[in-house]
Amino acid sequence: MEEEKKSNRRKFLQLTVVSGAAIATGAGLRNAFSEPNSELAKSQNAGESVHALTASGDLVQVDTAHARAVVHHPVTNDEARTGIAGKRFVMVIDLAKCDGCKKCTVACQKMHFTPKDREWMKVFEMQDSETTPSYWMPKPCFHCDNPPCTKVCPVNATFKRQDGIVLIDNERCIGCRFCMAACPYSSRFFNWERPVETPEMALTPYSPEQGYPRRVGTVEKCDFCPDMIRQGKMPGCISACAMKALYFGDENEDAVTNSDGETVRLSTLLEQNAGYRYMEDLGTKPRVYYLPPKNRRYPKPDLDHAASGHAAVKS
Ligand code: SF4
Ligand code: SF4
Repeated sequence: MEEEKKSNRRKFLQLTVVSGAAIATGAGLRNAFSEPNSELAKSQNAGESVHALTASGDLVQVDTAHARAVVHHPVTNDEARTGIAGKRFVMVIDLAKCDGCKKCTVACQKMHFTPKDREWMKVFEMQDSETTPSYWMPKPCFHCDNPPCTKVCPVNATFKRQDGIVLIDNERCIGCRFCMAACPYSSRFFNWERPVETPEMALTPYSPEQGYPRRVGTVEKCDFCPDMIRQGKMPGCISACAMKALYFGDENEDAVTNSDGETVRLSTLLEQNAGYRYMEDLGTKPRVYYLPPKNRRYPKPDLDHAASGHAAVKS
């Protein structure tokens, strides 16, 4: 009997009620909710019941077939603001390899639940002069080491971490948009309308490290996927790049890796390919480097901009 009580207590701690998105307990269900046939669901026998606490504080008895595992977000707000000790994250974008497919953009949207018209990672078609061919230029937030955006925030909602990442705490943001005005790269976006919430997004506890649930009246942008990095995974855009044009890594280790798992020395990559930072003269010290679009490995971009659907920019 005592053993049965202990067993039920364990289950009480491990499970929460799910009967649709309306019962949002604040618990993180990121994986379980999106994968109804998860290992937990498979191991649960219909007809076996457990006790669970609802959002309103009522103790109810539920069939385990209607329960999901609670996955707590692994970091505190303080940890999310401090960042990962000993790291200095950096991105390299090889313009010689990018073919403008926008898989990076789509992967980012999927990861952060952003709609199709919200591109934290935007791919521009560039043409430096009338006599030179155009090329593709993916542009995320540059996570500047001297970020003008964080300096103007009156409530310390946007901040620079020790690992180099610039984040926004949407629970603090008051929507004044000073940071948007300060960013010289137009990397920030304002949520004028209430973002459409998926059940998974609605049931996930907010953390500045994942940037959702997204909030109306606040600012958002590319975050370098810090929740993925903590799990030892690459940011979504890097993994999605079939051309292996995007590299991500740690400046302290002098190493960056692409979607193919190819790891190279950051300093050598930049030195041998004349790496540069966009609008370096502004003094913002971006943490994103570009390699020039020389000897491109794909056909010239289609100059019919309307058909390609990409933004065309003359630099
Ligand atoms: S690119 Fe803009 S938003 Fe990103 S860190 Fe630099 S100034 Fe801030
Ligand atoms: S919009 Fe939000 S993050 Fe940007 S400066 Fe204002 S309070 Fe800070």
